[in-house]
Amino acid sequence: MKRVVALFLYIILVLINIPVYAQTNPANTAKYFYDGQWHVYTIPPTFLQINGENVTTDMPPIIFNDRSVVPARAVFEKLGAKVTWDGVKSQVGISMNDTNILLSINDKNALVNGKSYEMDIPPKIINSRTMIPTRFVAETLGMEVDWVANQRLITINYKPSKEDEKDITNIIAKNPNNIDIKINKIEHTVKNSSLIIKISADAVISEYSAFELDANQSQDNHPKLVLDIKNAILDFETRSIEVNNNNVLRIRSAQFAINPNITRVVIDLNNWTSYNVEESKDKKEIYITFQKEISNITGIKYKRISNVDAVDIHMDFIQKPDVVRLTSPDRVFIDIPSAELEIAERVITARGKIVKSIRYAQKDNNTVRVVVDVKGQPQSEIEETDDGLRLKFINPSYKNIYYSNKDNPQLTIYSNKGLINYVEKIDVDSNSYTITVPASELDLGEGRLDINDGYIDYIDIVKNTKSKTTDIILKSQKTCTYSVQAKTNSGEIVINAVPTSNNLNELLDIEIDPRAKKKIVVVDPGHGGKDPGAIYYNEIQEKDPNLDISLRLYKMLKDSGIQVYITRKDDTFVELADRAEFANKLNASLFISVHNNAMGDPNYDGTMTLYYPSSSSYTFGYGITGRRLAQIAQEEMVKRLGTTDRGLRERPRLAVLRRTKMPAIIAEVAFITNYSDRQKLKTDDFRQKAAEALYIATIRALNESVSN
Ligand SMILES: [Zn+2]
Repeated sequence: MKRVVALFLYIILVLINIPVYAQTNPANTAKYFYDGQWHVYTIPPTFLQINGENVTTDMPPIIFNDRSVVPARAVFEKLGAKVTWDGVKSQVGISMNDTNILLSINDKNALVNGKSYEMDIPPKIINSRTMIPTRFVAETLGMEVDWVANQRLITINYKPSKEDEKDITNIIAKNPNNIDIKINKIEHTVKNSSLIIKISADAVISEYSAFELDANQSQDNHPKLVLDIKNAILDFETRSIEVNNNNVLRIRSAQFAINPNITRVVIDLNNWTSYNVEESKDKKEIYITFQKEISNITGIKYKRISNVDAVDIHMDFIQKPDVVRLTSPDRVFIDIPSAELEIAERVITARGKIVKSIRYAQKDNNTVRVVVDVKGQPQSEIEETDDGLRLKFINPSYKNIYYSNKDNPQLTIYSNKGLINYVEKIDVDSNSYTITVPASELDLGEGRLDINDGYIDYIDIVKNTKSKTTDIILKSQKTCTYSVQAKTNSGEIVINAVPTSNNLNELLDIEIDPRAKKKIVVVDPGHGGKDPGAIYYNEIQEKDPNLDISLRLYKMLKDSGIQVYITRKDDTFVELADRAEFANKLNASLFISVHNNAMGDPNYDGTMTLYYPSSSSYTFGYGITGRRLAQIAQEEMVKRLGTTDRGLRERPRLAVLRRTKMPAIIAEVAFITNYSDRQKLKTDDFRQKAAEALYIATIRALNESVSN
């Protein structure tokens, strides 16, 4: 822990020859110098006990207007708080865990995390020591304060709260004697077509080992993965769970040894497959994640069913394909994820009305690509059959339009009217662009042209009978800038779409791994509504720059086609637990909380990033650790903002870090209590740069997580 050197010196010089009366001399009256004069105390001295231990400080606690004050450093540093002193402003800062208290000498107003509170008594300089109100400060930091009247004793106790006890380091410290834990549940689920087995215990699983058995080493010819959990007792009835998927046949469990107690979990495998063993943050759960299940593609055929061209794909079990339309020449890609081609790659000549030919190949380790060459731009429909999927190609109900994505997306509307009147509309929320034309001028039919090429999701042609108009709606997957060109000579209307995010990524020199686009990111603007966060007088409330930076970040991610969510879009209050829950429910892959810092010492400036301790080495199946995410964010922020590098901090008790399952960080962009940082935060340019830094960090982290 870094400590800021306090500036007590000048007070000591002024008061150097004033004697300090300690409680070692209880018979004497004591004299205390404060408020510019001497005060004589004839009441007996007051004693202090911290966490059950009698503590003598060079200044004893002093009762002052019926309330006690204690020396700030001697008492609260002992309790684990950080105490800073600003000699210029006569301010004391006390911070611990999530709480920052700022007190001013002789001022009853205290700032707690930026919020103002009135205390019964003000802090005072007494005999050159900074004395602060005991009860107010201690209770604000979550400590218990008691007054034992007959002993004239103040007791301060600090026990980590129940929530804090979940902190891994605490539990390990509390369980040093190898007390047996109970294994109370074994479950399995499929997430993103990966099988995950979860083993749960009632306390921290301190030690386990895993080993593998080949098929020829086991009696039933099934390869096995064996997990031995030390100091554990099996505490449930079901000893065998049938899974029967491609990877795993069943999960068995048994009490393998007694004294020392070992619980053994045996996973019988159908095939050798790669897997990952990881613990949960609280170490009470072990997760075994198997490689995605692979569906075998056993046949691909051209069919003609009641005059409709179709492509049948036979597979073990259905994997939802990605259907993408490409142009020049017109063709449709059907990408089947987690699939393996069991048949030889080949080309089928179809000679259908729409389907010209079908080609297929193993595109990469996981994906089988079926390419259907088509005539024109038909509509396609997908349906499930008994043994796979059927793609039907249907004559379109729209007409006189042609979409091209050879270069930038372009929609051509054929008309023989030359220039016609049209009305444009851009809807940022639904990411769509609409032009409305008089139906009498253009006959475009009706219907939807599915595209899904990463730029345009689909084009809808909608007739409005009442207004006698036709809407041409381009629903984009990436934010685009649209322009309309009407060619008088050919009678064509051309809508050009230029993806704006291309420019951003080019500008920022970053590329997004296409696999990263499937990931979900949650942006969390810190504080909001009744909770302003840190406040600097009337100048700035932390919640405002937090929101501004977050919204910029959110927009950039959205524009780049990342699936992004935000915990608040305006100045509203959101509970901490709800923020984490929001991300957990979304199955988000990254959680980026945006904050700004405050400190009693106004010299303290710069950027720091907080993360959850156990996420320094575990990826929890997310492909990247929380610490690594923090590292990338810190690096990008310092690089782009030119702020002082305050480094990374482990923070076990912050709710949004502790409760989120995915890699999560709190980015503390700058200090609102520092003059220079504060001036920067007030500029659009700085907040934009902060958002860009976090945007790049997010993309880098996502890219890393999918390549790991
Ligand atoms: Zn904050």
